[in-house]
Amino acid sequence: MNLHEYQGKEILASYGVKIQRGQIAQTIEEAIAKYEEVTAMSGNNVVVVKAQIHAGGRGKGGGVKLAKNLDELKEHAGNILGMMLKTPQTPGGINGPGKLVSKILIAEDSYAPDFDACKEYYVSIMLDRERKQNVIIYSTEGGMNIEEVAEKTPHLVHKEHIHPTLGMQGYQARKIAFNLGLSGAAFKDMTKFISNLYKAFVGSDASLFEINPCLKSANDEIIAVDTKVSIDENALFRHPDLEAMRDKSEEDPTEVEAKEYGLNYVNLDGNVGCMVNGAGLAMATMDIIKLSGGSPANFLDVGGTADAQRVEQAFRIILRDPEVKAILINIFGGIVRCDRVAQGVVDAYKNIGDIKIPIIVRLQGTNAEIAKELIDKSGLEVMSAIQLQEAADIVKSVLG
Ligand code: GDP
Ligand code: MN
Repeated sequence: MNLHEYQGKEILASYGVKIQRGQIAQTIEEAIAKYEEVTAMSGNNVVVVKAQIHAGGRGKGGGVKLAKNLDELKEHAGNILGMMLKTPQTPGGINGPGKLVSKILIAEDSYAPDFDACKEYYVSIMLDRERKQNVIIYSTEGGMNIEEVAEKTPHLVHKEHIHPTLGMQGYQARKIAFNLGLSGAAFKDMTKFISNLYKAFVGSDASLFEINPCLKSANDEIIAVDTKVSIDENALFRHPDLEAMRDKSEEDPTEVEAKEYGLNYVNLDGNVGCMVNGAGLAMATMDIIKLSGGSPANFLDVGGTADAQRVEQAFRIILRDPEVKAILINIFGGIVRCDRVAQGVVDAYKNIGDIKIPIIVRLQGTNAEIAKELIDKSGLEVMSAIQLQEAADIVKSVLG
């Protein structure tokens, strides 16, 4: 689950990580009121207006603007609120439709009073699955696209792995501060920043923290200016406060709807819709579609208790994707009985009506034969198979 910048910053602040402070506004009037509050707090008339969407690269797309006074604040707030912000990370990139901005962060100017005395760094924490350890990735080349830095100047990107039971050690924080070329007060502040950041990462069961830029201010303080946070969804049950931060308007509406029906759905860009029970079987089904020359349009796990109603909802969701040229239903009847799923398919097919694409159903396990008979006798143009390869071959032939 991704969070907005301002929400990520709330988490950081609660762990004692210094952040670029600010306030959220949803209207111009609110923006004006927040401007007064933020400038009173910082003692500086300059603020940054930052679009809050789940995508990076906002600065380049015109979603981050410096306002030197109230007039400029009104101008930028007016332009950014309600805009369709296009960045390389919004769906379809800068040529896509962009994302609607409904919230802005009015933040203090962290680069005051001396912009040139500031320096931007890059710091992130994530799980290194190969090493089975969390890793802190950091670089002196902050503020820019880190993928590009890693490609062109890989020696400038450092990694520090954290032992899972020992946790982050003091020497590791000092090593990071040292490798970033810091000294004096900034060195000390960076070690504190890194230790608290790591505590926040573990404490919130995050899967990603990315601070870019992480700023050394003119008075040698280390500040999180931008914050990208992803929380591990599997751990959300123990973080109701973080769960409450979910912004459904930022998520794929079909995926949100699927979740409400108890379906585990991920939209992909292929042409064969899949409906499967069990995540492992769903992965295997996607593999065999690919091997047979097709390309999966989605990942869909209907779960172990697939009933007729769920099968129908799953159908409707798959059919909404105009790219889908065939649907492969692959159910292993273990807990669920194949004949019940088959009945669900037949019912759904009749209820939805007017399905113009071929449906291939492969049912294996409990009552598979009865299920095949049910489908074959239903009079519907549903093709049934018992072996998965058989089903994949049918998919291949119908795709031509
Ligand atoms: P992103 O473009 O989505 O990554 O958004 P960021 O929060 O990283 O902001 C983009 C850029 O705006 C940063 O790299 C900074 O150069 C600039 N910026 C952000 N906050 C401030 C600020 O307080 N003062 C100044 N002068 N520039 C800022
Ligand atoms: Mn950034």
